[in-house]
Amino acid sequence: MHTHLAETLRDSPAARDAEAIVRRCVHCGFCLATCPTYQVLGDERDSPRGRIYLIQQLLEGEPANATTQTHLDRCLGCRSCETTCPSGVRYGALLDYGRGVVETQLSRRPRERLLRAALLRVVPSRGLFDALLRLGRLFKPVLPPRLRAKIPPVAAAADTASAPTAARATRRMLVLDVCGESAAPNTRAATMRVFARFGIALETAPAAGCCGALAYHMGRHEEGLAAMRRTIDAWWPLVEQRAVEAIVVTASGCGVTVHEYGHLLRHDPAYAQKAARIAALARDPADILAGEDRSHLAGLGAGRSIAFHAPCTLQHGLKREALVERLLREAGYELAPVADAHLCCGSAGSYSVLQPQLATELRTRKLANLEAGVPELIATANIGCQLHLAAGTSRPVRHWIELLDDLSH
Ligand code: SF4
Ligand code: SF4
Repeated sequence: MHTHLAETLRDSPAARDAEAIVRRCVHCGFCLATCPTYQVLGDERDSPRGRIYLIQQLLEGEPANATTQTHLDRCLGCRSCETTCPSGVRYGALLDYGRGVVETQLSRRPRERLLRAALLRVVPSRGLFDALLRLGRLFKPVLPPRLRAKIPPVAAAADTASAPTAARATRRMLVLDVCGESAAPNTRAATMRVFARFGIALETAPAAGCCGALAYHMGRHEEGLAAMRRTIDAWWPLVEQRAVEAIVVTASGCGVTVHEYGHLLRHDPAYAQKAARIAALARDPADILAGEDRSHLAGLGAGRSIAFHAPCTLQHGLKREALVERLLREAGYELAPVADAHLCCGSAGSYSVLQPQLATELRTRKLANLEAGVPELIATANIGCQLHLAAGTSRPVRHWIELLDDLSH
C-alpha cells in the first residue's frame, strides 16, 4: 500500500515502523476469509484490510474519528490475519499503533471510560480481583444472567505440596503470576507438579505484577510499558544472581507479550538490553516439556476424548502450531477434530468485557465446533479463553497441563 507519512510524524519511530508495515500490504484480501469479525459483521471496515486503510489514514495525518475508534475497538487482535497474509504484514503491531493514536486523540463515553479504568485497576491487582471474585460468588444467585455466567465456580484447591521440594530439583525456572489466576489456581499447581517430576523447580518473583499486555493492547502504551519495566525489574535480580534457565508463562496471552518485550522496549535505552534477555528466556510450558523425556506418560490418557482450543496467542502469536496437541496425543488423549480451529473464541484479553455481544457470538460458534465431537472436556492454554469458554458450557474447560498432571497421580 502506498502511503505518504504526514510531515508531523516523520520523526516518530513508531509511526515510521507502522508505515513500513502498511507498505507491505498488497490489498489482496486473502486475510478477509480468516477474520472472525469480518465473518460475523461482513463490513470491510471490520476486516484486516479495512482496518489497515483506517490506520493508513492516521499515518497520513487525518485525525482519528468515531469510525476509526469503532472498527479498531471491534478488532480482537487475534492475529489470524497475520497467519494468512502472504506478504508478512505484521498486523498486530500495526493495530497496537492505531489503538495508541486513537486513545490519545479521542475521548470515550463516561460508561466506557469507567469500564476500561475498572478493568485496568482490578485485573492486575490480585487482592482486588480476589475480593471481587469472592463477592461475585457470594451474590451469584441474584446477579443478572450475563454477569452470573462470568463468575467461575470455586476451583479445586491448589496443591503444590506434592511437588518435590526445590532442594531436590536440579533446575530452576521463574514462573509468571498470571492475572486472574486465582479463578483457576490448579493451573499453576499442576505446572509445578508436572515440572517437579522433571527435576525443575518453579519460583515466582512476588514484585512482578501484570505483564503489561492488558493496558498495552487497549492502546494505553505508557501504562503497558511501565508494567513491563516493573516486571523486568522484579525478575532481573533473579535472572542475574541465579541460574534461571527459563521464564515459564502458563497463559499464552501473557506469554506472547513477554516474548515481545525486547521489541516493545527496543527504543528504551535503560531497558532494551534487559528486555531482550527476558524475552529470550520466555517459554510456554509446552516448549519445555517438548524437550523432556515424557515416556512415563505415554499412552496413559487412552480412552479419554478431549477437544483442544488453541488460543490465538498460541497459534497466531507464538506460532506454536499443534505443539500442545502433539504432547496430549503422545500422552494417549484422543483429540476430537475441531472445525475452524484458527478462529478466535471471543475472549481476546479485555474483549469479552468491552465487546460482549461479538464475544458471545464468537463463543457460541467456537463451542459448537469444540463440542461437535462430544468430548469429555475442553482443554486450552490461556486463562482468558478458559474462563470465557467455561461461562458458555457445562463441560469442564481446563488448562492442558492439568491433563498431563492427572496422569501422574
Ligand atoms: S486481528 Fe483478528 S479480528 Fe483483527 S483484523 Fe486480524 S483477523 Fe480480524
Ligand atoms: S492478506 Fe496481507 S497483503 Fe493481503 S490484504 Fe490482507 S494484510 Fe494485506
